[in-house]
Amino acid sequence: MAIKRILIANRGEIALRIHRAAREMGIETVAVHSTADADAMHVRLADHAVCIGPPAAKDSYLNVAAIISAAEITGADAIHPGYGFLSENARFAEIVEAHGITWIGPKPEHIRTMGDKVEAKRTAGALGLPLVPGSDGAVSDFDEAREIAERIGYPVIIKAASGGGGRGMKVCNSPDDLETLMQQAGSEAKAAFGDATVYIEKYLGNPRHIEFQVFGDGNGNAIHLGERDCSLQRRHQKVVEEAPSPVITPAERERMGGIVSKAMADMGYRGAGTIEFLWENGEFYFIEMNTRLQVEHPVTEAITGLDLVREQIRIADGKPLSVSQDELEFRGHAIECRINAEDPWTFAPSPGLVEGYHAAGGLNVRVDSGLYAGYRIPPYYDSMIAKLIVYGRTREGAIMRLKRALEEMVISGPKTSIPLHQALMDDAEFRSGDYTIKWLEEWLAKR
Ligand code: ADP
Repeated sequence: MAIKRILIANRGEIALRIHRAAREMGIETVAVHSTADADAMHVRLADHAVCIGPPAAKDSYLNVAAIISAAEITGADAIHPGYGFLSENARFAEIVEAHGITWIGPKPEHIRTMGDKVEAKRTAGALGLPLVPGSDGAVSDFDEAREIAERIGYPVIIKAASGGGGRGMKVCNSPDDLETLMQQAGSEAKAAFGDATVYIEKYLGNPRHIEFQVFGDGNGNAIHLGERDCSLQRRHQKVVEEAPSPVITPAERERMGGIVSKAMADMGYRGAGTIEFLWENGEFYFIEMNTRLQVEHPVTEAITGLDLVREQIRIADGKPLSVSQDELEFRGHAIECRINAEDPWTFAPSPGLVEGYHAAGGLNVRVDSGLYAGYRIPPYYDSMIAKLIVYGRTREGAIMRLKRALEEMVISGPKTSIPLHQALMDDAEFRSGDYTIKWLEEWLAKR
């Protein structure tokens, strides 16, 4: 096959990330962008650029016809979807392949199965992954819902089968609220995702969010690249991620890693994937699988030395996995901060002109960002403008390095979440590693 020209169907830091991997492999890149992103860094750097529509994502980054046309016009022979937008759209993957273009992603049928959380849970269970106790599939009948909730015990969480990005979830504490909350969850899911299907599971009181990075070659071989701890969340959105998790022992990593990689091998999974678990009292509970690259993939790159985007491209090109499980070593500790253009304490968005910009540098510091002085952050998209990733031999060393790097970062003009990250890195509890998915919100409420 040998991919020669990749169209990057995304924007922002991840578009730049994909461009970088491609150029290092001697592959040309095609940037597609909305009118609002004409001056974006990845558009400037790409070998070719095509405007695919107005600012609204539905008319540009989600515009399948415009993206396929751009690929045809520029002669792109592969498409990388990044994360978000069309990355988990099985229909898009099928259309790409139907045009004879290489899809840098999992097999469309696996994207479809895992995109439906009810199907995903059923599949994960059949593959031997431990599940959160709950309904066996979708629930629409209130009496049935009450029986299930009674059996697993309150509190329960009502989740949308098509949910994502932390949306479409309702916690229910008593049978009195069950019917109302189910109706609310259903109608909100219908409005947001066009699908009112909901299911029920036990609401875990105080878990950590721990996810495993996996890679499959599509032919029955698969490896795991260890875990990431993404427990620092606000409104179910990740804020800081680290690898390895401060609470997982090497033996536990090997055991769970073995289970997830076997599951992926049995499935014939192709490309990069993330299997997300909640972890409580030493037990793992599967919640969902993401069939794409994750925002937080750099922390895994830091501790394994592997370029995950390069690996995705290689696999899409029909090559075998570049490393075996035995060759993989997990070394040191990495932490990522998501830097958003928003008020650090009220979280109000703060787009606009970047008057000055200076990225942190030095040993084992990485900044993934399309920012530059004079760039105008458009108001139409996600507020994440940069990722700061540091690596250290130990967790304490990584935290010290992160503090030092945060002091160096200059983004003047818009407000950013840098002050929030600085306060977090100074917090004794964060530093001890003893935190759960509830911790950040409680910490913020106390301030
Ligand atoms: P999404 O696809 O919207 O990200 P997930 O199923 O991955 O949804 O859940 C996102 C977050 O919601 C989790 O990281 C966790 O914080 C919380 N959550 C999900 N399910 C449960 C549960 N059963 N108990 C407690 N918290 C949960």
